[in-house]
Amino acid sequence: MRLANVEGRAVLVASDTAGVDVDRASAGKFGPGLTSVYEDWDAFRAWAASQDLTGADVALDAERLGCPSPTPRQVFGIGLNYSDHAAEAGLAINDGLPPVFTKFPTCLTGPRTTVPLPEDGHTDWEVELVVVIGRTAGNVSENTAWQHVAGLAAGQDLSERVSQLAGAAPQFSFGKSLPGFGPVGPWLVTTDELADPDDLELGCSIDGEIVQQARTSSLIYSVPKLISALSAGLTLLPGDLIFTGTPAGVGLGRTPQRFLQHGEVLRTWIEGIGELEQVFKGENQ
Ligand code: ZN
Repeated sequence: MRLANVEGRAVLVASDTAGVDVDRASAGKFGPGLTSVYEDWDAFRAWAASQDLTGADVALDAERLGCPSPTPRQVFGIGLNYSDHAAEAGLAINDGLPPVFTKFPTCLTGPRTTVPLPEDGHTDWEVELVVVIGRTAGNVSENTAWQHVAGLAAGQDLSERVSQLAGAAPQFSFGKSLPGFGPVGPWLVTTDELADPDDLELGCSIDGEIVQQARTSSLIYSVPKLISALSAGLTLLPGDLIFTGTPAGVGLGRTPQRFLQHGEVLRTWIEGIGELEQVFKGENQ
């Protein structure tokens, strides 16, 4: 199943261009928004599986799509979860759980946006697999972790490196939560749609030049391991997002360093899920 956010309404995706409005098709049982759908995820999955999508009449224009979980109570960002990225950042890998920060939810957007560049900042790209939680999770084992996932989406953990790295204790959450810095989409894909949800190619390009390309099988903490480790210390809630970390190829790790410029187009993709497209706009442009 693929589930989209079309201007705030939950829509079952029938094809790349059309879907079925959940509230209308369920006569008000589910929807109209996305948030309530995750609260009742198991019942929603059962209902959605029985739906005939042949009459899909909601257009899926990318500009109309929002984040598939637009109001999560918690958003987790995971740092240094691919060894090649830790190496380019010049940082050691944690013995246990990788660094955890948040992206404050006001930064979340849909898949196709224009992102304002902060005037004095260094804005960097980070392709990431994003997990949407579908069941409350506390002390979950790795073996049952996937059962707590509603689905997966593509994400960009856009990062303003000057404010992120300012001060004695780095400001990860602040520098990664600027307006528009959390695009997610194009929709949620349930794991039964994917040949192997633990091994997906992901990447991104700037104006057509590929800058990151990897597979999620290289994650140091896989999705089940992350859910198990996070839920050992806190409670994961339906609709929560986990940005699982980025592979090598970010601008900060290059010689010379490179950051996003006015007019550049960042395309982001994950195999079996779909694409994002961000255009960057300088403050005085
Ligand atoms: Zn990241």
